Amino acid sequence: MSAGSTSPLPRTAPSATRLSDADALAMYRELSIHELGRRAFARCAELHPEPYRTYVVDRNINYSNVCTAKCIFCNFYRKPGHDEAYILSFEEIGRKIEELLDIGGTQILMQGGLVPDKTHASGHGLPFSWYLDLLRFIRTNYPTIHIHAFSPPEIWAFHRIYQMPLRDVLLRLQDAGLATIPGGGGEILVDRVRATIGQGKSLADEWLAVMRAAHLVGMQTSCTMMFGHIETIPERIEHLRRLRDLQDETGGFTAFILWTFQPENTPLGRWKRPPQDYVGEPDGQRLFLADAHDYLRMLALSRLYLDNIPNMQSSWVTMGPKVGQLALFYGANDMGSVMMEENVVSAAGTTFRLDEAEIRRVITDSGWTPQQRDQYYRPVDSRRRRTLLPMLPAARHAT
Ligand code: SF4
Repeated sequence: MSAGSTSPLPRTAPSATRLSDADALAMYRELSIHELGRRAFARCAELHPEPYRTYVVDRNINYSNVCTAKCIFCNFYRKPGHDEAYILSFEEIGRKIEELLDIGGTQILMQGGLVPDKTHASGHGLPFSWYLDLLRFIRTNYPTIHIHAFSPPEIWAFHRIYQMPLRDVLLRLQDAGLATIPGGGGEILVDRVRATIGQGKSLADEWLAVMRAAHLVGMQTSCTMMFGHIETIPERIEHLRRLRDLQDETGGFTAFILWTFQPENTPLGRWKRPPQDYVGEPDGQRLFLADAHDYLRMLALSRLYLDNIPNMQSSWVTMGPKVGQLALFYGANDMGSVMMEENVVSAAGTTFRLDEAEIRRVITDSGWTPQQRDQYYRPVDSRRRRTLLPMLPAARHAT
């Protein structure tokens, strides 16, 4: 896959009976987890009648943990000038890609913080040319690697810091080798929530503006949702509606990835929680963590509501392998990534790890054939590979 190429995937036709927001809310409140799962599984089978379920072999590369934002759910970032702040060299990034190539990986997911301009007094700033040079370095030295990089908040920061129109930022990144964009930083696309948990980070319209502009220059993207913190159930549905509306407009989302907030080591994790015997809905003020039951219900509802987004990933990294496997029966058709390296979620205390053989076994035990895929969800021929991805030492935490 050459950098900047676009997917041959056709648009996913909306379901015959599209859910309204009121439908979705009523279903969430009134249907059992089993009924939600049954309906989501049926819709998933309709969209994905193939005899396999997929996964991708890639590597997360966090090129920098320097960030000017202050998200209270994040334990990954360091302020510019902090002793533990880092920016990786191209050589370090190249070594990580070589390790990935050695085991048959096909792509990198590369993200960082919101790094200031090179004039920043901390010495931890970067010029825009650094990102372009990095992409060209990867494209020149590792031409088979698909570059999936820079979440919307990072791209919005490029637009603001370097004072360039969004479209120009994207065209220059694309020209230098950026192929697709991850949906990170979506959290909940409601500004009441975003302004509380992510000061200094893009608001909902800005996140969506980046995605719209990316789709319009031919870049496909994923989209995400991080729930189980201070959002209400109607705000979760508003988030889904904003994604579905943009997908109707552009058709550029390949997949939806849902995960739960991981509270350990974060300021948000210390927020006031409801009493243990509380049985009502999240009130938008206190911290309502989501458990496996909430995750599966929300995944199923997402599969039913987002009728125009073709793929749903299981979030085994945050939920663990058992719930990750169950997700295949609650609307997910993909096990996501066999991650060689993960720094962001692990910095917040989550440590689930599966190697490729285990992911394949999870899929086989569920009744499907495991199939490696690329970023466009096309099967990758793994016969060329020498071995399955082995379990690697635990990821280096950012802390
Ligand atoms: S979530 Fe992203 S934008 Fe927010 S503080 Fe962490 S690295 Fe920065």
